[in-house]
Amino acid sequence: MIVRKNPSEIDALREAGRVVALAHDAMRAAAGVGVTTRELDEVARDVLREHGATSPFLNYQPTFASSPFPGVICASVNDVIVHGIPDDTPITDGDLVSIDFGAILDGWVGDAARSFIVGTEDPADRALIDRTAEALQAGIDAAVPGNRIGDIAHAIGTIGRGHGYGIPAGWGGHGVGRSMHEDPSVPNEGTPGRGLRLRPGLVIAIEPMFHAGGDDGYTIDDDGWTVRTTDGSRAAHVEDTIAVTADGPRILTLP
Ligand code: MG
Repeated sequence: MIVRKNPSEIDALREAGRVVALAHDAMRAAAGVGVTTRELDEVARDVLREHGATSPFLNYQPTFASSPFPGVICASVNDVIVHGIPDDTPITDGDLVSIDFGAILDGWVGDAARSFIVGTEDPADRALIDRTAEALQAGIDAAVPGNRIGDIAHAIGTIGRGHGYGIPAGWGGHGVGRSMHEDPSVPNEGTPGRGLRLRPGLVIAIEPMFHAGGDDGYTIDDDGWTVRTTDGSRAAHVEDTIAVTADGPRILTLP
């Protein structure tokens, strides 16, 4: 079921999104060689506490997972695509770190992901992140009234495939509102002109994830969560929550 939001509800979602953005900035500032993803998880917990917000990730257990998620962030390093569990492994020079983070404020959810490199940048990693961010922007640009979900998916997929990147099937964006995952789903590849027609009040997370290797394959670790590229290549993941409005897409997860 699609639940569209009125302007004051979108403003409330924006406040949740602001907390998400602040936490991302704090984690980015704290990240460095030798820092662990568990420490970044603590940074995010502090931001939640400071703003009277809670986590939609902590203890989340969708049908595919065998155990509740133990962190407030997903920390996905190098060949991990999404859903990495924060742990005590120190980040090393040149690691590609993707952080997915959500917040619930006054009953409304914000959800966003950022990828960055710690220390020395491999140009291939830089390009992968930049192209993934470009795909997110193209998806956002397509999120205008009258377009369809397939137009967003096509905009994202065209950029990923155009650079020879892999795109894991079955993972992608989703509606956002009082819960983190609402209808519709927003795939990262699709056919223009197909799918749900976009109308003002639709709030969705758009989240391209690309593999540097052209292989789309992924595996899931024994922890039931960690999604990795089959070919061992690095992955990037960038996400914003946006509202479709008559004035164009409004990004809700910026600072
Ligand atoms: Mg999401």
